[in-house]
Amino acid sequence: MGFYDEIEIEDMIWDDAKGVFHYPCPCGDRFEISRKQLANGEDIAVCPSCSLVIRIIYDYLDFEDEGDDDEEVKEEEAEESDDNADEKFEDAVERLEVDLTSRMAEARV
Ligand SMILES: [Zn+2]
Repeated sequence: MGFYDEIEIEDMIWDDAKGVFHYPCPCGDRFEISRKQLANGEDIAVCPSCSLVIRIIYDYLDFEDEGDDDEEVKEEEAEESDDNADEKFEDAVERLEVDLTSRMAEARV
């Protein structure tokens, strides 16, 4: 799938009222992504009026704590085993780093 563009989070506009970052879409509407989506590791902002999407370039670590007040927090997993959860977290961080590295490599090509 293709992206219309890749936009750094610094270049997006924060809408405090709606709690979303937005960026102008060529169709006249705007791409939107919420802090919660960013905290969930999502980096795709969609335009509600057309099919275009953009990829947001941002530092996941700046947003990961935003998920704390999420009502959909998966408590079941956390209760199973603390040790296991730590391992999962480390794995996730490792995967994230690998992912970021490969993305940066992609961007240079
Ligand atoms: Zn649009």
